[in-house]
Amino acid sequence: MGLHEGHRSDRRLAVNPLLTDADPLGALETAPPVHRLPDGPMPPPMAYRLVHDELLLDGNARLNLATFVTTWMEPQATALMAECAEKNMIDKDEYPQTAELERRCVAILADLWNAPDPRTAVGCSTTGSSEACMLGGLALKRRWMREPRNAGRYAAGARPNLVMGINVQVCWEKFCNFWEIEPRMVPMEGERYHLDGERAAALCDENTIGVVAILGSTMDGSYEPVPEICAALDALQERTGLDIPVHVDGASGAMVAPFLDPDLRWDFRQPRVASINTSGHKYGLVYPGVGWALWRDKDALPEELVFKVNYLGGQMPTFALNFSRPGAEVVAQYYNFLRLGHDGYRAVQQAARHVAGHLADRIEATGSFRLLTRGDELPVFAFTTRDEVKNFDVFDVSRRLRERGWQLPAYTFPANREDLAVLRVVCRNGFSMDLADLLLNDLDRLLVELRRQPGPMGEHGVENRSAFHH
Ligand SMILES: *Cc1c(COP(=O)(O)O)cnc(C)c1O
Repeated sequence: MGLHEGHRSDRRLAVNPLLTDADPLGALETAPPVHRLPDGPMPPPMAYRLVHDELLLDGNARLNLATFVTTWMEPQATALMAECAEKNMIDKDEYPQTAELERRCVAILADLWNAPDPRTAVGCSTTGSSEACMLGGLALKRRWMREPRNAGRYAAGARPNLVMGINVQVCWEKFCNFWEIEPRMVPMEGERYHLDGERAAALCDENTIGVVAILGSTMDGSYEPVPEICAALDALQERTGLDIPVHVDGASGAMVAPFLDPDLRWDFRQPRVASINTSGHKYGLVYPGVGWALWRDKDALPEELVFKVNYLGGQMPTFALNFSRPGAEVVAQYYNFLRLGHDGYRAVQQAARHVAGHLADRIEATGSFRLLTRGDELPVFAFTTRDEVKNFDVFDVSRRLRERGWQLPAYTFPANREDLAVLRVVCRNGFSMDLADLLLNDLDRLLVELRRQPGPMGEHGVENRSAFHH
């Protein structure tokens, strides 16, 4: 999608005559090409207007119930980010205080996720969970290869594998593809839409570098049972001696569960959990792109993956795929931690869960839909049409809501539930009870029309299918 072919055309941008400072006729001579660098410069206000106006076509992010990513921050956070626009995260020497704020964020997360000793937990910021998952996966692979027995088998052609549910986010398929790991995916079965302990353990063998547990699933917002998965792997170790570490992909849930489900032991309280990632730009409440990767201790992150950069005349260890990277999002993350504190985060996430629960109840009450989840884990739920609904399907609902500006993706589940198509709602900070009620009103109005359709309209809704990966 973002991988564009370098195509050329003679298309030109049209410039409104009023955009030229003094002479409206001047604009008629200015028609910058679209796919070529213009021959000369133009005044900054004109360039600003052209880009600004073109972006009006982007959707209204507040009505987007497809994405997990933050679409609103406070003006003070926005101001801080603008002040930090030039700061390069890798340049620890030039921006030591930004580096210090990153370190504080890692310490705060290590404490929040109950690292046995937050002072010895290691971690870093990333561009998002995808990069953080790559780093987590790489550490698992190196840990596995560090064992002399495994290194020997690897040299003899054994292929390391990673065990996960088929509901994993696409970044784990990427990880396996890029780093040549065999993905071992547990399919969905019946009413089980994510990984469980028994199936995870059943797929492990001596070439398994780890198990990924998701908190929570992007498909339906459910938490995977991390304690149960760890217990099943404990039992496996007792039976076979295999000691399989767990990485928790907490892209969303690692910033929800600590505040709303403090008794759920999904984090470093499980000795088997080696590493955790989260997206600062999801329920961490920061604009894109910031993520975090943490390891329970130095042992969990093989030394040879760590590189040193200059820092105040000394050397500072770093672990990242990128080199240069903006510092503003890290600063904004620290702002949120300071601004909200534990109680503030709890209030924000509680409000999102409250709205999700309300919406789920009301959608169920229309009589046309069956809920798969209720928004009581992640503030996210999935639902489908009831069996007796024959006049329309989830793709019709998605398409018709889109006409009103709402984005609710509809998509088909993976194996072995390809027969099941769902709609998903992601409730985020900024999606208020008032907006939820507007959505419900629109849905009620639409249902009157949809129930009169002769039958589902078919493929037209398919355009939205890929949107749920966000
Ligand atoms: C969003 C998400 C990712 C990818 O995160 P980015 O921050 O968008 O790179 C990975 N895993 C899960 C479970 C997610 O929800």
